[in-house]
Amino acid sequence: MAKSLSADDYRQMAAELTPRTQAFIGGQFVDAASGKTFATVNPATGTVIAEIAECNAEDVNRAVALARAAFDDGRWSHQSPRNRKRVLLKLAELMRRDAQHLALLETLDMGKPIAEALAVDVGSSANCVQWYAEAVDKVYDEISPSGPHALGLITRDPIGVVACVVPWNFPLLMASWKIAPALAAGNSVILKPAEQSPLTALKLAELCAEAGLPEGVFQVLPGFGPTTGKALGLHMDVDCLAFTGSTEVGKLFMQYGGQSNLKRVWLECGGKSPNVVLSDVADLDKAAFHAALGIFYNQGEVCTAASRLIVEDSIHDALLEKVIALGQAMQPGDPLDPATKMGAIVDQRQMQRVLGYIDQGVREGGVLALGGRQARVNSGGYFIEPTIFSGISNDMTIAREEIFGPVLSVIRVKDADEAIRVANTCDYGLAACLWTRDVTKAHTLSRKLRAGSVWVNCWDGGDMTMPFGGFKQSGNGRDKSLHALDKYTELKATWIDLT
Ligand code: NAD
Repeated sequence: MAKSLSADDYRQMAAELTPRTQAFIGGQFVDAASGKTFATVNPATGTVIAEIAECNAEDVNRAVALARAAFDDGRWSHQSPRNRKRVLLKLAELMRRDAQHLALLETLDMGKPIAEALAVDVGSSANCVQWYAEAVDKVYDEISPSGPHALGLITRDPIGVVACVVPWNFPLLMASWKIAPALAAGNSVILKPAEQSPLTALKLAELCAEAGLPEGVFQVLPGFGPTTGKALGLHMDVDCLAFTGSTEVGKLFMQYGGQSNLKRVWLECGGKSPNVVLSDVADLDKAAFHAALGIFYNQGEVCTAASRLIVEDSIHDALLEKVIALGQAMQPGDPLDPATKMGAIVDQRQMQRVLGYIDQGVREGGVLALGGRQARVNSGGYFIEPTIFSGISNDMTIAREEIFGPVLSVIRVKDADEAIRVANTCDYGLAACLWTRDVTKAHTLSRKLRAGSVWVNCWDGGDMTMPFGGFKQSGNGRDKSLHALDKYTELKATWIDLT
């Protein structure tokens, strides 16, 4: 196990860092066809980290052709599951070997606290790759119950060329949730990281090559959404597009699929998750801790952020007081310091967007109970104080729209029925939390919650065995668990007449 590093160790590593900056196409690191680059910026300081290859449709065409050739000649797709497992297990091992380096890249690129980058982003990504590696030679196909005169085989074929377009809030983890099952199933995969956070994806390419993934099976195309992302979405030879990001862009990908080859489009989109705390909650301190974590963890840049705290009247004031105290103690700090609990917002645009929502909350009559301002202004970076609004009604803008920042809306309700009604009155349905000590209520009310994940007496529960994805405008399809393999395979029915 590597020794734990101090803030100074990480600063020293950062000063000496030379990250990969080229695209990874056909097993080689190469410049973009146009020769163009874009800057990736450290949101904690506002300074440029590196110039990154800016891919466009020409690079997409090249990568897709190589991915198709790799798929068709079977260099990966026809390998036995056991062989694919061996390579992916090696990849997980290499991710752990280089965990501190990967964590540093993630923190520098998108501003999250280094301790979380190491434990959660890199740790969970390596676990995810390992989990699918271990799963893939244990998944059986089916034989239909069709009697003695026929043999009905129900098998899963890899789908072909899979493009993954991912966001900046958990760059490595969101990529891993997609590429691990897609590669395990035998596909050729092209990853487009978000333009704010390309560094770990490029490091991952290096590790994939070292682990022994054949050329063309995994490629990385950094670039902008409306160029690289759109070209992947519209490509006639991409069979499947797996997306994580905003609902707005998710809708575009459905259109791209319709305008091109009807590729399978799987979407993990936005959220506005309710956190319902009923008056019979068993442990108010635990509920308060999870309420604060649920909105301030990762600076609130979490698709499942518990951004609406819906509280029964009799415990409202006591809970609010505790969440304010916890929020107060989570002030942003230097992301490279392992003691920091909240880091920087990903870029200036996102910071301004979040501050705009805070203004809107005040204008619509919300009571600013904590924070509300930019923090660490002298750092040159983009930090926002933990912010809590009370006196919010569910129809206010900040209770309806995804803010994607450390801004909590507290909504007071009179009873459990109103709480569930408010929780479900939302365009999104990614996750919901419920706090009660009553086991019957826990079951009956969680059935009523319209969300892909329901967490009872916790926020963000689960592990790789649990599927993850949304109802309503939070998307379709599921990441994680064996269900994710459905997205990256086609079901084939082979009927053999035995008469
Ligand atoms: P985004 O939608 O702006 O960008 C996501 C990706 O799409 C990026 O790679 C971007 O380059 C690309 N893109 C942007 N515009 C495009 C276009 N016109 N055509 C093709 N591609 C385009 O999202 P973001 O700001 O990076 O991330 C924040 C969003 O991601 C939030 O809404 C959040 O809820 C969501 N998210 C969802 C999950 C989930 O699992 N449901 C997980 C993490 C983040």
